[in-house]
Amino acid sequence: MNPRPLRRVLIANRGEIALRIMRACRDEGLETVAVYSDADRYAPFVRVADRAVRIGPAAPVESYLRIAVLLEAARASGADAVHPGYGFLAERAAFAQAVDDAGLIFIGPPASAISAMGDKTSARRLMAAAGVPIVPGSLAALNDPDEAAAVAREIGYPVLVKAAAGGGGKGMRVVAAPRELAAALATASSEATKAFGDGSVYLEKYIERPRHVEIQILADHERTIHIGERECSIQRRHQKLVEEAPSIAVDEALRERMGAAAVAAGVAVGYRGAGTCEFLLASNGDFFFLEMNTRIQVEHPVTEEVYGVDLVREQLRIAGGRAMSVPYGRLVPRGWAIECRITSEDPANGLLPSAGLIRWMRAPAGPGVRWESGVETGSEVTLFYDSMLAKLVVHAPDRRQAIDVMQRALSELTIVGVATNVPFHRALLADPEFLAGTIDIQFLDRRADLLAAADDAATTMRLAVAAALLADDRRLSRRGTVPAAAPERVASSSAWAATARRDALR
Ligand code: ADP
Repeated sequence: MNPRPLRRVLIANRGEIALRIMRACRDEGLETVAVYSDADRYAPFVRVADRAVRIGPAAPVESYLRIAVLLEAARASGADAVHPGYGFLAERAAFAQAVDDAGLIFIGPPASAISAMGDKTSARRLMAAAGVPIVPGSLAALNDPDEAAAVAREIGYPVLVKAAAGGGGKGMRVVAAPRELAAALATASSEATKAFGDGSVYLEKYIERPRHVEIQILADHERTIHIGERECSIQRRHQKLVEEAPSIAVDEALRERMGAAAVAAGVAVGYRGAGTCEFLLASNGDFFFLEMNTRIQVEHPVTEEVYGVDLVREQLRIAGGRAMSVPYGRLVPRGWAIECRITSEDPANGLLPSAGLIRWMRAPAGPGVRWESGVETGSEVTLFYDSMLAKLVVHAPDRRQAIDVMQRALSELTIVGVATNVPFHRALLADPEFLAGTIDIQFLDRRADLLAAADDAATTMRLAVAAALLADDRRLSRRGTVPAAAPERVASSSAWAATARRDALR
């Protein structure tokens, strides 16, 4: 492969990941081009970019998902490469191909690797052939309920109906007994048709209480390596909320076995760049391939923290035809990293997405803290996009200390204007089971109390800060000047809140 140096990168994404990629571009000496919808006109990622191109109205189908418009933006801005981030078009083989056909560099794997992993049943066949352990079940989409019943009998109940084109946990149904099978097939299939335009479903053995452990891989023209695991068992409705590296359940020997399987998966599809193999890890130490994400993952920072690798910079190097900068030989994780996804989901309202103006935001800082945010004071949170506002990542010498640093950071974080899931994170990190690390992917199903927890604290906090802002507004109107440092005085102490309330009511 001829090195083809990158110069100017268009980021076909938004929010925190667009900013994350732009930072890596800066560090690599590359120029950046943002694309934005009308809803994102004033977003931080647009301001930070060297150039910015409007691509349409707020709805993703009218902006971030329009391949032709993105390619035209690349042409008009003189970009020579496109980074897709995660979500949106990141795992559309057609997009990778279109970028390639336009003579631009796609910062990701070849389109062929994306499509090989895009369909779950074909990925399962490929993985089985490559010697990667897969969950027992069907290797192709099911034709009818009789065939499904036969497969289910063979692998044994409970079974899981899954959409072949699946993603985001859609089109999945657990079936405990034969009489429930036909109905589950029908609902999963219609859900899959709605979500993916493809109703094909297949069956997997339902693994009881596994952990979700995934392996980061990196591949250049010369070698394919793994960079350890991430534990992502803290999920709600199959959406990850908290991730850690390393995993408390993985020792050096298991890491090498899972790592070797992930590398074999990458090699089997001719992978390039950064990718992730997701596995279910059963309590007996057996692990099964779930899927491969052919892109940078939301939770990549925890790997970066414990391995000292900048995965996005490595993506850029590899896309430019250079070798990865990761040293040869076995990599050893250093310390412990945890990520909490801060979402605009309202604990007082069943954790449904909330929208509104972020009247004020104060990010945590200090030793061991990394804040990856797509929003700031003054940002408008809409319901058009993913509800994740920011990621709070911490790194400390061991798991216990990482949890303590995370609690410290969460206690400093203030977001006023939209409800967030911060109270959930605080309750989770204080929970004895979480502290002991005895978690699995059904943990939050059993512990709904944590999800509902502490919304009292959130409400109190919101009231206190609203009072403070009101007080500031009044002072401001009295003096007719802007008190520059005023929001800095907003803290979570109750004494302070009481004063603020009094001021506000005066
Ligand atoms: P999607 O692509 O929709 O995210 P995945 O195959 O990655 O689907 O599965 C999503 C989640 O569903 C996993 O993280 C895990 O929590 C659960 N899951 C998937 N397959 C199984 C299985 N065979 N047994 C138990 N849980 C499973």
